[in-house]
Amino acid sequence: MVAELIDGKALVAQIKEQVAAEAKALSDGGRTPRLVAVQVGENPASKIYTNMQAKSCGSVGIEYELLNLDDNVSQDDLLARIRQLNEDPTVSGIILQMPVPKQIDARQVQVTIGPSKDVEGMGPVNMGRLFYGGQLVAPCTAVAAVELLKTAQGDLAGKEVVVVGHSEIVGKPIAMILLQSLLQSPTVTVCHVATKDLSFHTRRADVVIVAAGVSQARWGAYRRRKKAGEEVELPDLSPLVSAEMLNEGAIVIDVAINRIPKGFDANGEPLKNEKGKNAMKTVGDVDFEAAKEKVAAITPVPGGVGPVTVAMLLKNTIACAKANA
Ligand code: NAD
Repeated sequence: MVAELIDGKALVAQIKEQVAAEAKALSDGGRTPRLVAVQVGENPASKIYTNMQAKSCGSVGIEYELLNLDDNVSQDDLLARIRQLNEDPTVSGIILQMPVPKQIDARQVQVTIGPSKDVEGMGPVNMGRLFYGGQLVAPCTAVAAVELLKTAQGDLAGKEVVVVGHSEIVGKPIAMILLQSLLQSPTVTVCHVATKDLSFHTRRADVVIVAAGVSQARWGAYRRRKKAGEEVELPDLSPLVSAEMLNEGAIVIDVAINRIPKGFDANGEPLKNEKGKNAMKTVGDVDFEAAKEKVAAITPVPGGVGPVTVAMLLKNTIACAKANA
């Protein structure tokens, strides 16, 4: 069996069309939706992300502002700035760009963002609403993963879904979203770093949603220890989920984005690109090449959950703009 590729392009186009129509209606009523991204200091990785946000917002009629704060900004000053944005009626949504410098407590900032401007659905009020059902917004990646799953498997009632990863931004909200229907929910199992036998769970699942980021975490830990002068063995960067761990006919949603070296030379050094830098690749947590020969449907990495996540941010911005209006 060769798996169906769940690439999300159609879903992104559909979401953007709806968002653009709603953004226009809001603008026609004098309330142009406006997203403000707060970035503390400079970070090349977030720059790629903020450029992408600006472009996506522009393409659907949402105004986008990148608020660059000094690297040394204090927690109090940052919180004061967030409160100002909460009070500003022209601001529909606020997003805190990660990572933040050490002096900043990101969780406290997220708690300070007003619930009706919390476009990432990360604050306690929106998390609580997710638990109760009827939420205003939910974390973008979690919604993206579930919506992509629904394009491949509409009816989830009674299915066995295994979620690998239990973070607040991805794994836990995915489980909560899946459990929201009283009668049509799947059975959801959440696995994590302390799960004893991951394959026991994944093998019997109709749907496997993986959000762990294991190989990048291993590569990061190896680099930190090596930099500190420790003698360390090359880490195992093979995918967390092999084809053997998956049921034939399963649907696989790979949320992970691992940036790891393409390979190593005989001395254990990462292969270099033409610029002399480490040649890197982006992979998920699932062995895509082997899994696609076995399962019914699978998302690629990159190009699967990622683009839908950005589209969900736009959708959440409209939901917040309407709530504020
Ligand atoms: P996190 O580090 O907060 O959480 C990792 C989770 O993986 C934890 O719940 C941990 O228990 C689990 N885990 C770690 N090792 C494991 C193991 N060996 N077996 C089973 N579970 C294990 O990460 P996160 O923020 O939830 O992100 C997870 C992945 O999703 C990362 O690769 C990240 O890059 C990716 N991500 C993608 C998007 C997107 O837009 N596609 C957005 C956010 C995160």
